[in-house]
Amino acid sequence: MGLRMCMVLLLLASCSSMEQSQKKEIRQKNERKDRVHRLSHEVQYPETKLLSQVRDPYPWETSYTGIHPQIAKESFRCKGSGKNPPKVKEKDSVLVLKDCEGVHNHSLPTRGKKEFIYPILVDLLNYIQIKTGRPVEITCGHRCPAHHAYSDSSLYNASSKHMIGAEVDFYVKGMEDKPQEISALIMQYYKEQECYKGLPEYEKFSRLESVKVDVVTLPWYNKEVLIKTYQKGEGRDFDNLHPYPYLSLQVRFDRERNEKVSYSWEKAFNGYMRY
Ligand SMILES: [Zn+2]
Repeated sequence: MGLRMCMVLLLLASCSSMEQSQKKEIRQKNERKDRVHRLSHEVQYPETKLLSQVRDPYPWETSYTGIHPQIAKESFRCKGSGKNPPKVKEKDSVLVLKDCEGVHNHSLPTRGKKEFIYPILVDLLNYIQIKTGRPVEITCGHRCPAHHAYSDSSLYNASSKHMIGAEVDFYVKGMEDKPQEISALIMQYYKEQECYKGLPEYEKFSRLESVKVDVVTLPWYNKEVLIKTYQKGEGRDFDNLHPYPYLSLQVRFDRERNEKVSYSWEKAFNGYMRY
């Protein structure tokens, strides 16, 4: 260190120590002592030591499947929004399609006055999250009739089970290009669960060949569900404008009521609450 630098540092140090002593002097000059009056029965409690505590988790923080938040019927709410501009369709006559207001406008489909989504859809999506360790992205769960018409006004999908809580479109983040693996997992679910053991109509999946479909890959089905795979470029409705292939799961059979699940106008249009 050069001599000049040493001198500068010495000067700075003496400046600051001078300031300190000056402050002390001023403080002492202005110091005033006052008596503190206490009552005879006053007690001085010892200072309690503060301990850090872990707070209790909120209900939604406890619901995890693997490392991802659990899929619940909440995840199926209609994705309609009043912010979406009206669409104009022109064919024989001009038709203006307005989207719904989404969750502010209506409930999920109802059963017995409670919101209802077929539980098998919820169970299968949670199973996929556990098995893959990756989050499921639901692109379309329940669609009210207004949002359905806004998103997909094709005649082919006019009786979509999205409107009755029996269909879900999704992809798995990080496995977007492997829908066939997800399909295989769904079939595996039926082989693993105790309640389906020894029931070939659930354990065995077949290809849907006899019905006209809107996908190149022939869908798989068992008694309870139908699995469709949409490739890139297929099924690009308003809710599926993402660039990935995706899967669509439809419920075919209601095990609780022991009946076939099918779309009806009554269920779609009157089967939910409007706010
Ligand atoms: Zn809606």
